[in-house]
Amino acid sequence: MVPLLTLAIVSVAQAPTPEPVTDQETELGQAMYQQLRDKGEIIETSPLYDSLAPISDAIARVAQSQYPHPFKFFLVHETQPNAFATPGGNVYVVDSLLYFVKNKEELAGTLCHEVSHTIHRDSVSLMEKEKKIEEREVAAAILLGPTRANLIAIALIGRLHSLGYSREAESKADVTGSDICAAAGNNPWGLVWLFQDFQNADVKQLPQLLSDHPADGTRIKTLEDHFRKNPATFSKFNADPKSATPFTVPKNAPTVFLPPAPKGKP
Ligand SMILES: [Zn+2]
Repeated sequence: MVPLLTLAIVSVAQAPTPEPVTDQETELGQAMYQQLRDKGEIIETSPLYDSLAPISDAIARVAQSQYPHPFKFFLVHETQPNAFATPGGNVYVVDSLLYFVKNKEELAGTLCHEVSHTIHRDSVSLMEKEKKIEEREVAAAILLGPTRANLIAIALIGRLHSLGYSREAESKADVTGSDICAAAGNNPWGLVWLFQDFQNADVKQLPQLLSDHPADGTRIKTLEDHFRKNPATFSKFNADPKSATPFTVPKNAPTVFLPPAPKGKP
């Protein structure tokens, strides 16, 4: 009995209830989650999570030291294969992307890239750059009654799906992403293979995360330069896509969507 009691006291001492995190990034991330949830996009349960989780967990473990809020990966259902990260640590992966990628490394590369946008605060910067337009939108929409965070969330989701980031921000996310992928044990050439696949793909099939950046060749070159300059990290990885790890997902996987939250409850 005594050791148990001691253990209980120790564990209470070691794990105090944390203060709820209230900062702008988390608040905005939660509002975007709410928005996606209200649109019925967020997949609550699906066998696809079993395919995604081992890859995303390993990436989150590596990337977490570079970002103060927990990384979480959600599957969403949208028309285009895509992935996007929002402030606060949430990363959204469109279910069809899991069918689009040719191997595990391509999917890992995409996730590492998105996590890097979060680490670089790219979506926050995008939001700040768009502030004027956004304030007009907020002013117009305020009549409808939702909270300011919800309005910004709506605007930012639109931005992430339409404008995307600058080519420079994309390349930076590629480079940081390759470091993260390498540290997580994923061959960072996966992102290069993905770009090459896109270059050969039907334009209509291009995921948004790349389709508005025609300079994929520049992004490939930037990555290759980075690999060459850091042989200690990258020389052990095979550049040949034939070395890729197959990634298989169940066809027509049944999915259950997260129902919209009751009104007034964030
Ligand atoms: Zn990107």
